[in-house]
Amino acid sequence: MIRNLRGSNPDLPDRCQVCVIGSGAGGAVVAAELAEAGFDVVVLEEGGYYPTSELSHDPLRMLPRLYRNAGGDSTLGRAPIMYTEGRCVGGSTVINAGVCYRTPSDVLHRWAMGLGTLDFMPENLAPIFEQVEKHLHVSPVPQELYSKDAKYMLEAAQGKNYHSVPVLRNIHACQGTNLCILGCPTGAKQSTLVTYLPRAQKAGARIFANCRVQKIELDGDRAAGVEYHELDPLTGQRGPLRFLQADWVFVAAGGTQSPSILFRSGIARKLRFVGKTLFLHPNTKCVGIFPDEVNAWQGSVQSFQIDEFAEEGLTLGATFLPPGILALALPFYGREVDRIMEQYNHLSVWGVLVEDSHPGRLRFSPKGLPMATYKLTRDDTERFKFGILKLAGLFFEAGAREVLLPIRGMEYARSRDDLRQLERYRLKAEQLSLFSVHLMGTCRMGLYPQTSVVDVHHRVHGLRNVFITDASVFPGPIRVNPMLTIMAMATRAAHNFVEYQRRFSQAA
Ligand SMILES: Cc1cc2nc3c(=O)[nH]c(=O)nc-3n(C[C@H](O)[C@H](O)[C@H](O)COP(=O)(O)OP(=O)(O)OC[C@H]3O[C@@H](n4cnc5c(N)ncnc54)[C@H](O)[C@@H]3O)c2cc1C
Repeated sequence: MIRNLRGSNPDLPDRCQVCVIGSGAGGAVVAAELAEAGFDVVVLEEGGYYPTSELSHDPLRMLPRLYRNAGGDSTLGRAPIMYTEGRCVGGSTVINAGVCYRTPSDVLHRWAMGLGTLDFMPENLAPIFEQVEKHLHVSPVPQELYSKDAKYMLEAAQGKNYHSVPVLRNIHACQGTNLCILGCPTGAKQSTLVTYLPRAQKAGARIFANCRVQKIELDGDRAAGVEYHELDPLTGQRGPLRFLQADWVFVAAGGTQSPSILFRSGIARKLRFVGKTLFLHPNTKCVGIFPDEVNAWQGSVQSFQIDEFAEEGLTLGATFLPPGILALALPFYGREVDRIMEQYNHLSVWGVLVEDSHPGRLRFSPKGLPMATYKLTRDDTERFKFGILKLAGLFFEAGAREVLLPIRGMEYARSRDDLRQLERYRLKAEQLSLFSVHLMGTCRMGLYPQTSVVDVHHRVHGLRNVFITDASVFPGPIRVNPMLTIMAMATRAAHNFVEYQRRFSQAA
């Protein structure tokens, strides 16, 4: 059973072989692989435990429980970017859309060359991807789950001869409730909550919810264990600091929190790249208002993606936001929000994601809390303008009577003439409403401690028994949704670790 500390007082651990920090995409995979290999594993997870039966469609209930800071974080800089991360047992995999793509081949080739290892060549990673995909039931979204507005987008894209690909998702008997981002209420989405974590537990791993790691305790070039405390994520109330002794520590706390743990542990003083290269695949959304009801809430959250502009670093797709979240995301106030939300059944949300050309960075408060700064480049601003024009053009092609644009000062397009005006317009970054759900690269992998944080085995440079296995180790952005890449990398890291320990114990 996952220990949830709400009200109860189970025995907290004070010794284990492997401590895994975080239970999301990276942490859960490592926990399962290492527990199955016979290691005594403890997972410490800051967020609460919410099994499928406790997940609901109510954003006011689910956002504070499943999301860090109730989903309300933002970067500073031009333009500010709202970002969200999961904070619960299962991490961001519980609240994500379940879109599963392998790392594009060109990205893997670049990584393999830069890291000097053939391990990252697509053909060498393929068996690992297959293994992860099998466990997650990765499969194309069935046609009957295509929402009506997604079909409109697909037809409009086909009319323009844009290349598109069916979306692969980690779903098993999906009912099309379209509530993925509030936690799947039927358990169909194969998040780590219902896949890797039960597997880890079955193999003996102990998983503790509501336990936040403060820092890694170092003894020379080794970790002695971690300092942690109980935390009620809803009230912020903390218990006393405790110590968990561990032979090995695997950090998988996600794109902003893993570097923060390193900072609080004093590791960032030696490794200057901690927090330095923050990539976040910024995205934005246009909202189309159709004359007929599209009822976008019926179907799959995403069913295909338009990759016609992949070479330009752009991905387009129909997505979905539940009413409470869409109302929050609209760049309007008061009566205008009423006017738009009254037409909810006629609304469709289509988005564009940009592969960022330049990273931002994290800075840390004296207490080690992260603050992200990010400046959208002129090139990326232009790419957003291009993407918004394409989305709005597709909306009109599909019959929308009005398109709400994510641009301050130019919020409405009611005809193609309005789009022609936008074409000529010099868009400034600060006018854009931007979002991110893919935070990566803040403890990046590389050959040298001067320019990276972990080596190709995920081991923190200069430390013998500390590894990082989450999105923060990406050497750069990857253009596609990152979960599968994180899981494949974590699987490889765990396999290498087991093999190394086996050889080491044979030699000893
Ligand atoms: C709304 C949304 C939609 C998304 N959609 C997709 C998608 O469709 N496809 C896709 O591939 N990706 C998607 N992503 C991104 C993907 O889910 C993440 O990139 C991935 O889960 C990151 O894995 P991770 O292991 O780095 O971190 P996470 O999965 O976020 O896990 C980190 C865990 O560590 C815990 N933690 C943090 N600090 C501490 C601490 N100090 N002590 C203990 N525990 C700690 C956190 O609470 C969290 O549970 C989406 C993300 C979001 C937020």
